[in-house]
Amino acid sequence: MSCLPSVNPATGEVVGEVPITPADDVQAAVDRARAAQPAWDALGLDGRAEVLKRAAPIFTDRVEAHAELMTREQGKPLKESTAEARGLGSGLEREVDEIVEALRPDVMESGGYRSTVYHDPLGVVGAITPWNFPMSMPNWLVIPSLIAGNTVVLKPSEETPLCGQAYADALNEVLPEGVLTVVHGADDQGKALVQSDVDMIAFTGSREVGKHIMREASGTLKRVVLELGGKDPMIVLEDADLAKAAKFAAFNSFRNCGQVCVSTERIFVMDSVADDFEAALTDLASAMTVGNGLEGADVGPMVNAGQRDHVLRQVDAAVADGAKVLVGHEGHRDNFVTPTVLSGVTSQMDIGSSETFGPVACVTRVADADEAVTLANDTVFGLGAVVFGGANERTEGVARRLTAGMIGINRSAGGVPGTPWVGARESGFGYHKSKDGHRQFTQTRVLTQEAR
Ligand code: NAD
Repeated sequence: MSCLPSVNPATGEVVGEVPITPADDVQAAVDRARAAQPAWDALGLDGRAEVLKRAAPIFTDRVEAHAELMTREQGKPLKESTAEARGLGSGLEREVDEIVEALRPDVMESGGYRSTVYHDPLGVVGAITPWNFPMSMPNWLVIPSLIAGNTVVLKPSEETPLCGQAYADALNEVLPEGVLTVVHGADDQGKALVQSDVDMIAFTGSREVGKHIMREASGTLKRVVLELGGKDPMIVLEDADLAKAAKFAAFNSFRNCGQVCVSTERIFVMDSVADDFEAALTDLASAMTVGNGLEGADVGPMVNAGQRDHVLRQVDAAVADGAKVLVGHEGHRDNFVTPTVLSGVTSQMDIGSSETFGPVACVTRVADADEAVTLANDTVFGLGAVVFGGANERTEGVARRLTAGMIGINRSAGGVPGTPWVGARESGFGYHKSKDGHRQFTQTRVLTQEAR
């Protein structure tokens, strides 16, 4: 059996390897998951919740080991890996309770009849995940699938198979056999899972692959939930707290080396405050250290050479087309890319319109809020957006005109616990988290009878 090596992007060392699942064997994994589903379903909502909650202390005990593995396999700084690893255990109980509440049947009566709306399992869910949050992305799809009574075949990213396997291994210490299976590989295994007879594909990844999955799934009208890429805008109004805005811009452009779906990829700043904002952002970017995430660096390596080349190509093209480098764009080595701030970016540049997924903050000066909103919405994407401005109705009005699915004012885009993680336009199809999101992993079924 051939193996998939996992390589540390900071050092080039092989971290480990997993056996590749031959694409022809993927349907057999789905068959085993289907065989395990009735017994898992029979445990009932509360029974399944109780089983899953038993995984919380296992994740908590492994925070250090999981965090180190994440940094070695994917490159992000250890403090970011630690936060991701910690969330798996500390957030599990609340998440499970929220899903259970969302999936309890609803009862309605009218004209002497009573209808019960059930949220039944679909059967087998195929979950396909990316590398940028190598444990929490599987977690976001696997937990709601399982609580709903589905069994799951998970295909983690080929860049982070060890993290995907470690995540599943922890859950499998409490799950009955066959309820969660991992298949390893790249596009071929992903395609085989989509072509198998799974009942649903839950996917997080790029827009291009999302579109491919939707086309392929249409043959049998498989349910799909697609969480895709973004090109998130940030608007800085005249009355913004500029120090706070610059700090957020630096954090959200360079976190995880910019490899975050809701990274700040385009910054529209009012002309009148642009000099001060750019100066503050440039200072913050210059102060960031770049290096091995295990050794305390603020910014780790890009996940691989392909991703690095894509980012550097976009920056080079932007500079050739007139963007000004305020800091960065030098000192790159191996997979490490220096945090870069560009000014004078336009939406005609590739870096102003296609997802970058790298440590580059792109600033565009605008005359007023109308221009900022027009440019921010001039995209096929619609994942997150943020507005920095005074705590007043005007700032809220600007935020309400943005076409993204999640909009933050003076903070990040994502909502408080219990709200959906949702992309608009080509950033997603369906969504998860929240009552409605949890129900997308189920088949709604209505039973009506005389009211007694
Ligand atoms: P990707 O789309 O290249 O790969 C994602 C997964 O799909 C991997 O497991 C891959 O092996 C598999 N795959 C590739 N081709 C396939 C095919 N034809 N059929 C089925 N599966 C296939 O994405 P990536 O590079 O791993 O991750 C980065 C992307 O993910 C970015 O675009 C980012 O914005 C997005 N993302 C979105 C969210 C969100 O919540 N919206 C969260 C994290 C990442």
